[in-house]
Amino acid sequence: MGLALFGNAPVRRTLFPSWPIFERAEEESLIRILRSGSWGGYNKKVEEFEAAFAAMHRSDYAISCANGTVALEVALRAAGIKCGDEVIVPPFTFVATATSVLLCHGCPVFVDIDPTTLNLSPAAVEAAITPRTRALIVVHFGGHPADMDALTAIARKYNLALIEDCAHAHGATWDGVPVGNFGVAGTFSFQAFKLITSGEGGIVLTNSAEMAEKVWAYCNQGRRRNSGWFEHYTLGTNYRLTAFQAALLDEQLKKLPEQTRTRAQNVEYLRERIADIPGFRMQPVHPKVKNHPHYLVTLRYVASELDGIGRDMVLRALKAEGIPVVPTYPFPLYRNPLFTTDQLPPCNCGSWKPAQDYRSLNLPESERVCRDGLWLEHNLFLGTETDMDDIAAALRKVQQNAPMLRRRQSEVAHTVPARA
Ligand SMILES: *Cc1c(COP(=O)(O)O)cnc(C)c1O
Repeated sequence: MGLALFGNAPVRRTLFPSWPIFERAEEESLIRILRSGSWGGYNKKVEEFEAAFAAMHRSDYAISCANGTVALEVALRAAGIKCGDEVIVPPFTFVATATSVLLCHGCPVFVDIDPTTLNLSPAAVEAAITPRTRALIVVHFGGHPADMDALTAIARKYNLALIEDCAHAHGATWDGVPVGNFGVAGTFSFQAFKLITSGEGGIVLTNSAEMAEKVWAYCNQGRRRNSGWFEHYTLGTNYRLTAFQAALLDEQLKKLPEQTRTRAQNVEYLRERIADIPGFRMQPVHPKVKNHPHYLVTLRYVASELDGIGRDMVLRALKAEGIPVVPTYPFPLYRNPLFTTDQLPPCNCGSWKPAQDYRSLNLPESERVCRDGLWLEHNLFLGTETDMDDIAAALRKVQQNAPMLRRRQSEVAHTVPARA
């Protein structure tokens, strides 16, 4: 069969499940808030959702907030990060993991990832620790928890505040313990494409009463929980979630376990179906990981098994076949102009100095996955095995037609955009 890229029939013409998904329950819950007249962050629905989220993750405290970025910022503030403190972060993640550090006037230190899990490499973390290192932000990339045995041991040994950025990993567990419980705080995002969503939103989990109080106070204008509206004890701001968001999230949360099971079944089925297709590698799941929500399935493309064709060509060909596969981040975070032009320091408090020369930084595993990674997003796995068969068929078709793609590479390169 010829490639759809060259005018032949595509593997698939129908759409994959879209995101987000909602039902009558969401509509009714939103209307209840509307009619209650209590639309803000002090509606008891917000506390109800926080309690449900904490219970699902077996955490003592949950404090909701406006989004996953400020969740990281308040967690860092509550952990005491201040000007010039070094905070270790991965560079293969969304920008907020690093900018939250800068927003607290801390100094992000980029450390390379493990090529298999795409999470921080524990050995690289340990090698990057200096006397100024105060904290470590671990991202559970794509929903696969990082090696929390090694990373919590390092945090303990060097007395670092460990913060988990769980924006991809709602409900995932490592060695039986839900993410968000391994350090001083775990942060989550409810942004529009995340696994539980209210369009925007975030939450901080912690098992420390003191952290919980600090996070809550910062999100609530420096108030104390049981004191007056116009009494402000510490510096804070308004980072609250609204009751409408909590109403949506409460319903979305109930759907998560079932959706996670569906995605896991489909991912494992796809794994079998593509195991013998050269050119594409799928990440394994570590035996200590359960409830992997598969936020992103990262395929590694192997040029040598695809006649040396470029990744963009592979993406174009797969898209033409009806598979909405997307490239990974275009480059590691430190290559963003924020880090390479003269926009730092983030403050003039004097003790800030870069821990690394961001301009010359080159972390090979992070660079590599930005070049050879392809993402299949979580909504693709909410359907049926037939959907997985189509993904497998498209990968096989592209692989089998690699020599032809290579011959016609220059012809295609200028005609079809890589990103729709
Ligand atoms: C989405 C995301 C965030 C931030 O979330 P927002 O709610 O969009 O602010 C933080 N970290 C990672 C890894 C993310 O993917």
